[in-house]
Amino acid sequence: MRKPLIAGNWKMHKTPEEARAFASQLLEELKEEREVEVVVAPPFVSLLPVKEALGDGPIKLAAQNVHWEREGAFTGEVSPLMLREAGCEYVIVGHSERRGYFGETDEVVNRKVKALLDVGLKPILCVGETLKEREEGKTFEVVEAQVKGGLKDLEAGEVKELVVAYEPVWAIGTGRTATPHQAQEVQSFIRKLLGGLFGEVAREIRILYGGSVKPENIAELMAEEDIDGALVGGASLKVDSFVKIVRYNRGG
Ligand code: PEP
Repeated sequence: MRKPLIAGNWKMHKTPEEARAFASQLLEELKEEREVEVVVAPPFVSLLPVKEALGDGPIKLAAQNVHWEREGAFTGEVSPLMLREAGCEYVIVGHSERRGYFGETDEVVNRKVKALLDVGLKPILCVGETLKEREEGKTFEVVEAQVKGGLKDLEAGEVKELVVAYEPVWAIGTGRTATPHQAQEVQSFIRKLLGGLFGEVAREIRILYGGSVKPENIAELMAEEDIDGALVGGASLKVDSFVKIVRYNRGG
């Protein structure tokens, strides 16, 4: 019922020309892909060249961040309408690097989610606990506050296309992956929370896992009931490893 989604977050990697060449190679490998929805999220300046390379093929485009206003005096920011016109379908919001290094709060994340939905873009809302929070037994409390804060004042009719990514901060870029059991435990909790907020539609919302996903661990993660895909950082920067992750159920 939920189509698997594998999204590559390139973070601050690849120049526009490198990004364009990479996208062409990826498209060559994945042009017949139908089983899994594939998304790539390059830096802002590479969105247009990557979109040109991807054309109308099956790989979709995402941005890594957005401002919540449509236009105005907000030096250095990029609006939802600009991203939509650049060819984006998805936008990552509330990534732990944005929360941790740039001070993004749940209130800011909530404004961004609403602004995206208002123009028909699909948010990929990231949530997840730090190592300290996990060790103090606060994982569920933290994730609940981020989900409820990020989705405040939204209605069931608006959230069907929303994607949530559970990314334990201690697993991002560390090589330390959550076990399938650890991820499933939190992701089923997230689905219950979504059910409490929005009812039946929660069964259609995709929940991704993120944190050191690699070709070697993707299949066992995807076998869990509430893991509908992955948000992939490091392993999305090489064609070979990203394609293997996308083909997790077809022997790489
Ligand atoms: C991420 O940036 O969202 C991420 C999960 O990174 P990595 O796969 O490198 O841990």
